[in-house]
This record gives sequence, structure tokens and C-alpha cells, in this order.
Amino acid sequence: MKTDIQIAQEARMIHIREVAEQLNLVEDDLEFYGKYKAKFSDELWDKVKDNKDGKLILVTAINPTPAGEGKTTTSVGLGEAFGVLNKKAVIALREPSLGPCFGIKGGAAGGGYAQVVPMEDLNLHFTGDFHAITSANNLLAALLDNHIQQGNDLNIDTNQIVWKRCVDMNDRVLRNIVVGLGRKADGVVREDHFIITVASEIMAILCLAEDMHDLKLRLGKIIVAYNYEGQPVTAKELNAVGSMAALLKDAIKPNLIQTLEHTPAIIHGGPFANIAHGCNSVRATRFALKLADYVVTEAGFGADLGAEKFFDIKCRNAGLKPDAVVLVATVRALKYNGGIPKTELSSENLDALEKGISNLEKHIENLQKYNVPVVVTLNRFITDTEAELNYVKEFCEARGCEFALSNVWEKGGEGGIELADKVLAALETKESHFKPLYDDDLSIKEKIETVAKEIYGAKNVTYDGAALVAISKIEEIGYGKLPVCMAKNQYSLSDDPTLLGRPKDFSIHIREVYVSAGAGFIVAITGTVMTMPGLPKKPAAFGIDVNEEGVITGLF
Ligand code: ADP
Ligand code: MG
Repeated sequence: MKTDIQIAQEARMIHIREVAEQLNLVEDDLEFYGKYKAKFSDELWDKVKDNKDGKLILVTAINPTPAGEGKTTTSVGLGEAFGVLNKKAVIALREPSLGPCFGIKGGAAGGGYAQVVPMEDLNLHFTGDFHAITSANNLLAALLDNHIQQGNDLNIDTNQIVWKRCVDMNDRVLRNIVVGLGRKADGVVREDHFIITVASEIMAILCLAEDMHDLKLRLGKIIVAYNYEGQPVTAKELNAVGSMAALLKDAIKPNLIQTLEHTPAIIHGGPFANIAHGCNSVRATRFALKLADYVVTEAGFGADLGAEKFFDIKCRNAGLKPDAVVLVATVRALKYNGGIPKTELSSENLDALEKGISNLEKHIENLQKYNVPVVVTLNRFITDTEAELNYVKEFCEARGCEFALSNVWEKGGEGGIELADKVLAALETKESHFKPLYDDDLSIKEKIETVAKEIYGAKNVTYDGAALVAISKIEEIGYGKLPVCMAKNQYSLSDDPTLLGRPKDFSIHIREVYVSAGAGFIVAITGTVMTMPGLPKKPAAFGIDVNEEGVITGLF
């Protein structure tokens, strides 16, 4: 069987100019990064902004196995299937992070015959957006430490610095470090921390900003530290906004590439869904809605994380109204949720499936709370048996849920026609009355508790003392009305990654709370989730190589 990268390398890409023509764009609307990648020009928005919006379709999933359950694959395949049906569609996805690429999961360009290309470029440096974000983040850190070194006019309490450095890599030794060692001229000694770039507030800001004006306003609001009076110190006070924005000048422009079947794919921004808000950029989604009749977008990990934040943060923030949701399940992940180890997912096991399907049931119930029509799709693996597939189909149909089997990994767009038809039917026959889960006006604790109880199914929420202090402080400085961005492991509906299926009677523990004032949300960190991941014993990096002709192998 061919690997994802082999299939991608055999693809015959067309010039990105021709891909853009499908969206009625001309050369002037694009800035070319070689033959197969382009960014949208600054002028394009004015040209398309009065177009009628297309339909917005969110792809999400049940709680995944560590390998991922095929949301990107399904999103790409669904976009390709719309193409087969002669519908004008565009796919709007996130850019991959180097962390998972070299860690466990591999790249994020889809899989099999439902991929976006060039996959090596996308998975590695692409158009440099993540490097720009990393640079802007670290410029702010450098300006902050320099401010302290140069006399600390803002009275920054070095024990209350909240801005962290970042790098797009899984590198656990950087979680807790000491900076400024050496002589007086080498800076003020203090404890510091690195997070992965996809958890940086700059990433969230880039993804939520309307335009350059809004980007700068948001950058200015970033709280970097507190002073000795306990008042917030912002990036604006450090004079950091102009230079950070300059670094992000091109990074805020959405990128255009193509699928294996030449469907246009807008790929922009990439916050993780466990430790950040998990959605592609608002700008990319807005462009997509103006350029096509059907927009397929993905939010990260399971629907408890990505979809919840897509609805409650991104859609709330940008005033977007999703028209339908596709919930991806796999027989493998259902069996995994039924307690079967990763190594045994390929053999038929109806008992485990019956146990694990409670996870799918909970996600269906959760998505229905947002009043958006739901279509469940089973992403078919060749190891799935007829009995297993039928079991899932009957389970969904018995709950009055639209169901479609998806074969896009094996067959590309042709394998997604059943799903595309079901989605089109849902769009035609069912109206979306989208509403977020909670009101802005609730207190921070009420918001956290609403998500924990309604979405995760928790019995109650417990807090570290420091988290309670932080919550009062955030309300006191006037940020209590912001939505909450929950940071939680992706494997379980609870904050304990070993509680699979549909756990009951559990508590969610809030360890840490802080405000991302520029992004416009309050981060609540649950359980033991980390904002800087580590590498496994045998990282994917061991299998990656490049030959003398520049051909990369081992990326998946
Ligand atoms: P997600 O977006 O949910 O994290 P991806 O779409 O990135 O998941 O898929 C994760 C991995 O699983 C990819 O390497 C992909 O090739 C593989 N995969 C997805 N669907 C299938 C399938 N139906 N059969 C075999 N492998 C698949
Ligand atoms: Mg994905």
C-alpha cells in the first residue's frame, strides 16, 4: 500500500493560478510563492467583500486515538466530492505544526487520496507564517527583558511575568528554564518558560484578527506582566506593537494550495485545539465564504475541544453562522474508546464497539446543543468489517441522525459522494439556528462550569487556589466577559486521558487560569495538560529523510 507521501509525490499539481481561476481569481489577486503556493493579495478583500456568503460546514470528530481519526482527510475528501458534483467548494484548514510532524502524529495534510499538496512544503516551512509568529512572539519577550535591564520604568514585577517565549517544536526541556545567567550586562536572572508556537497568543491573535488594524489593536492589548501594584503591563506600553505587526505583515494573508483533485484549499493559521482555540483564521474563513458556495473547515481534536471552541470562541468572535456539522467517527477510535489498546484496533470486536459508541452518542448530543444540523460520517478503514460498519450506521439512524459512510482515503472525491449528498440534503432541508453554548455575561466560573458539565459531562469543577485568585483578578481588571478557552487533553471527555468512552461522575480540575486579552479569551488549564509537548521514545523524526535530489521521505 502506498504511503500518504508517496501518493502526494505522484500527484500532478496544476499551477496555482489555475486553481485560483476556479474561484474566479486572476493573477493580480495572488502573491506567488513558487508555482504551487500563493497568498491572497491585500487588495482582494475589497474586490470580494460584497459577494454573497457560501455555506459553512464544520468537520469535527469523536475523541481520537493518538493517530488522529481523519478529520483533515474527511474535510479534504468532502471538498473534492463537492467538486465531483460540480459544486463550487473550497476547503479552509489550519497549517500544520512541526511538533506533531516530528513527534507521534505526523503531518496534517489529510491522507490517502484525500490530501492537499504540496504536502512536504505544507508540513515543513510552508510560506513561513509560523516562523513569523514565533519571531513576533520572541521579539516581544526580548523587548520585555530588555525593558527590565534598561531600568524597568514600568515597574514590572519579575515574579509576575506572564509572557513566555515560544518555538514550533516538541521540546520538553524548555518548559521551565532560567534566563539572564552571567554578568550584570547579561540581563536580569529569572525563571522563564517556552510554549509551542501553536499555543502562543500571537497565533490566536493572527487567527482571530479581522485585518491589520484589528491585529495591531489586539497585539497592543497583550498582557505581558503585572507591575508591583498588581496592574497589568501590556505590549503597547512596551512599544512593541509596530515591530511585531511588521513581522506579521505577510503572515496575516491566507495561503492557497490545492487538493490531489485540484480543489482549492485555503490554509491559514494553526492553533492546537487542546492548548489553544483550535481553528484556522477568521480571515481565511471569511475569504472562503465569499469565494465559494460551500466551505469545508476543520476544528482540531474531538468535538469537546475543537468544535466547542469553534462555536463559542471563533463564531462568537467573528459573527460566523455555521450551517452544518460533519461528525467524523472511526470504528478504530470507537473500539479504542471501548478500552482496546492501540495495537489491537485492526481486528473485529463488536463488544468493544458497543462499549465505545457511548463516546459518539455524547458528541451527537453535544453538537445538537448548538442548533446546527449534524451529519455523522464513518471514515472507513480497510480493516473495518461489514458487521462493525452496520452497527455504527444503525446506531446513528436509531437516533434520527443523518449517516454517511466515507471512503475518501481510498478513493478521493468519488469516495465522498454519499457524504456530500447527505450534507447537501441537510443544508437544504434543515435550518441552522446556531447559538453559542453560554452568554458572555456569565461569570468566568459559570462559563467554565457550563462547558465542563454540558459538554464534558462532568459532575462538578474543582479549582487550585491560584486559579481562583487568578479568576478574581481577571474579573477585577475588566476581562470577565470574555469567553473561556479550555485547555484539556484530547483523548477523554474528562481531564484524565485514561477515562475513555463516556465517563460519568468525574470532576474537572482547573489548575491555572489566565487572560489572553489580545486574543479575547480566558484560558483555563485543566488536569495535567502541557503548553509545551515532549517527544515520544521513537519520534516520527527518526523515519524522515531527504535524498540528494531533494525528495523527502517518511513524512506521513
Ligand atoms: P485528524 O485530522 O483527525 O487528526 P487526519 O486526517 O490527519 O486526522 O488523519 C490521521 C492519519 O490517519 C493520516 O496519516 C491519514 O493518512 C490516516 N487515515 C485517515 N483516514 C484513514 C483511512 N480511512 N484509512 C487509513 N488511514 C487513514
Ligand atoms: Mg487534522
